[in-house]
Amino acid sequence: MKIENSVIVITGAAQGLGQSMALYLAAKGAKLALIDLDNDKLSQAQSLCEQAGSPQVATYLCNVAKEDDVSDVFNRIVADFSAIHGLINNAGILRDGLLLKQKDGEFSKLPLSHWQSVIDVNLTGVFLCGREFAYHAAQLGQPGCIINISSISRAGNMGQSNYSAAKAGVATLSVVWAKELAQYGIRCNAIAPGFIRTDMTASIREDVLAKMTAMIPAKRMGEADEIAHSVAFLLENDYMNGRIIELDGGLRL
Ligand code: NAP
Repeated sequence: MKIENSVIVITGAAQGLGQSMALYLAAKGAKLALIDLDNDKLSQAQSLCEQAGSPQVATYLCNVAKEDDVSDVFNRIVADFSAIHGLINNAGILRDGLLLKQKDGEFSKLPLSHWQSVIDVNLTGVFLCGREFAYHAAQLGQPGCIINISSISRAGNMGQSNYSAAKAGVATLSVVWAKELAQYGIRCNAIAPGFIRTDMTASIREDVLAKMTAMIPAKRMGEADEIAHSVAFLLENDYMNGRIIELDGGLRL
């Protein structure tokens, strides 16, 4: 796929990895539909993408976990751009916690609300956006490309029952969709990042972060630009399908 003038939808695009992907693709001339939860942050991302060289940028307030919101937003995107070529399912949240925690002889359980909110955004959100994207791209008869953002935690990370399960699900969905959607000219791949410097990782305690970095063979965290670089590769290479790129500096959980 040629990125220049292609219409790419990015969820969670107002900050972090999503914004970095948007800027990277803007510089390559992509038209961008940016989805997130905060209007001010979206407007900021929009101006930055316009300055970076995107010929058309529109923003959409949408909770990716809500079916009606997602279907409405994809209808609006197709109406606004008259085309849809790429989707990056990037929006994600963390609600970490051990399944069981013991303190002073008392056990506490991981709340169902922590489990459910992460599954809703990180797994159901990917399903809903992927489904709406595929529906419109197939109807328009245009070749398409879906990129799902998984995580190194898909291997199973302590304190992340919800996040690890969702990210493993996202990786597997990518394989299923590659098989199902090839007949419509739609490819699907995933990226499983390791520890990347963003606001999400800035909230981790400094001593914990230092310990984690020491375990990475590359001896540093990844940069958001390095994820964006792989996003561009997956969009551009028409033979990449049904695969998960592990971008983690060599770290294995
Ligand atoms: P981030 O800085 O927290 O950005 C995530 C963005 O998604 C935020 O703007 C957030 O909005 C938005 N969002 C959250 N829930 C949403 C919803 N229901 N609907 C629409 N937008 C929503 O996170 P990041 O570090 O850039 O991570 C991006 C993706 O990469 C996530 O899927 C994450 O799991 C994955 N990942 C990150 C790392 C890493 O090291 N950073 C590693 C592996 C995988 P609010 O801020 O308003 O909530």
